[in-house]
Amino acid sequence: SLTLQGLRKGFGGQDVVKSVSLEVADGELVCLLGPSGSGKSTILRMIGGFEAPDGGAVLIDGADMTRVPPEKRPTGMVFQSHALWSHMDVAGNIAFGLRLRGMTRADIAQKVDEVLVLVGLEGYGKRRVWQLSGGQQQRVALARSLALEPKILLLDEPFASLDQHLRERLREELRDIQQRLGITTVFVTHGQDEALALADRIVVLKDGAIEQADTPARIYRQPATRFVAGFIGTMN
Ligand code: ATP
Ligand code: MG
Repeated sequence: SLTLQGLRKGFGGQDVVKSVSLEVADGELVCLLGPSGSGKSTILRMIGGFEAPDGGAVLIDGADMTRVPPEKRPTGMVFQSHALWSHMDVAGNIAFGLRLRGMTRADIAQKVDEVLVLVGLEGYGKRRVWQLSGGQQQRVALARSLALEPKILLLDEPFASLDQHLRERLREELRDIQQRLGITTVFVTHGQDEALALADRIVVLKDGAIEQADTPARIYRQPATRFVAGFIGTMN
């Protein structure tokens, strides 16, 4: 499980994350939902270790990760864009992190094939990244994270650059993979439809603080504040 305890972060004297506490259960998919600037990416980066909190703690399975560097954490992160090395082929992108871990060539090859099947890109290993469509590139980015078998998968608006149709398809695929692997996932989005479709639980953020954390059904039917109601769209 993932635990955030009173997580705080400020930039230039301004608090952008204000004492965020959250418990994410094993296998749960939580969406962080909020408007631009509400602190979603900052929270995700603190979970992944790319940003040091000013206060509070990040625990994974009870172990304090707060001062552990990203590569030593059992987390995998997929960024919104520019996530892949375009000079390498698909297999090279996925293999990179595995090589750093000292995995043998044979094991790497097997793992690369396995995750490419998982994301629906069987046989794409030799393709160059720049030859792939945006959706295929985001699938490769997901495959690269999954190859490292993270306990916690962190996704920062991974489908934001894609058109609506593709976004919905990849959302379905992600949900399917996530449930099959039972992988604990934190998914950042500012799209309420995306959160409602994907999440076991939605955490609505406003100005760096949690407004409401609840199931999609309850967030939709019983928004706790006017802000949540307005943001989810039930008041429009
Ligand atoms: P978006 O939906 O636009 O991605 P977000 O909810 O992910 O927004 P954050 O990226 O977490 O928001 O940013 C929260 C606030 O912190 C913003 O006002 C942003 O300008 C500020 N901020 C984030 N990172 C830094 C940084 N490295 N230096 C200074 N300010 C930062
Ligand atoms: Mg962001």
